[in-house]
Amino acid sequence: MVGYIYDPIFTEHGSQEHIERPARVEVIDAVARTFPLQHYLVRKATKEELKKIHEAHYVDWVERAYEEGYRFILNEDTLLTPKSFEVASYAAGSAIPIVDAFAKGEIKRAFLNLRPPGHHAERKTGQGFCIFNNIALMARYAQSKGFGKVMIIDFDVHHGNGTQDIFYSDDTVCYFSTHERNNYPYFTGSEEERGEGRGEGFNINKPYGDYCKDEELLQLYEDLPSWFDFDIVLISAGYDLMKDETISSAQITFEGLRALVQKILQFAGNKPVAFLLEGGYNLDSLATSVTITLEELTKDEL
Ligand SMILES: [Zn+2]
Repeated sequence: MVGYIYDPIFTEHGSQEHIERPARVEVIDAVARTFPLQHYLVRKATKEELKKIHEAHYVDWVERAYEEGYRFILNEDTLLTPKSFEVASYAAGSAIPIVDAFAKGEIKRAFLNLRPPGHHAERKTGQGFCIFNNIALMARYAQSKGFGKVMIIDFDVHHGNGTQDIFYSDDTVCYFSTHERNNYPYFTGSEEERGEGRGEGFNINKPYGDYCKDEELLQLYEDLPSWFDFDIVLISAGYDLMKDETISSAQITFEGLRALVQKILQFAGNKPVAFLLEGGYNLDSLATSVTITLEELTKDEL
């Protein structure tokens, strides 16, 4: 079986007027219900767990911020609404039951349908629609359960500056990102950012130009680090690289996405693989993209 995480709590943050809106996960859940998936219950990340990836004062600040009158993190990109802290804690904690299921051998693959997304959240602050870095928490929790070396692949059209920041000097987590060069967050994501100290060489950025097509994107995945001896593969699955998305100029087709997912699964081999939702804002494109992902995950199941 392929594992799946969703809970209506994920609709209780933000606003339907914002592009990162609750309807995104509802549309995906409707798709997921047409597949035979093993459903797991979400679990809230504790503040202690969140403080393993974020600075303590930031976690404490998010908990109090709405009551203290803040409505945004940094700017109007990232809303804070009454239940944002709780919802973001559940989103980050969703990784835990999935990793536990991997550790017990119940499943080998999973899709985590959650929001708010996470890959722009750095140690010190959230931004870019992201409050807590969900995939970073999953990586650290996986390590605590015996998956010592974690491969993170990020195909969201935006650079995952937060994930890069958290693991920049770490050689136990390898971060590989493809993203549009002239797009948010603008000041990170170059090839020169390779990690530092022990982490040097374990941060791999593959930016592409405007109007990126399938062949160009897939070519970049020829450089996935086959030398990294990973125990688990986590995917920042941002579907905002698709051609019908207005947030980028990338021209990725559904056939291209299918080939990308196949390539990632081939790279992962027999190691556990989890796809975590990041971006993707055109609801029709998002539904088809997740359908393709789930078709590939449930095909030739390990
Ligand atoms: Zn994105």
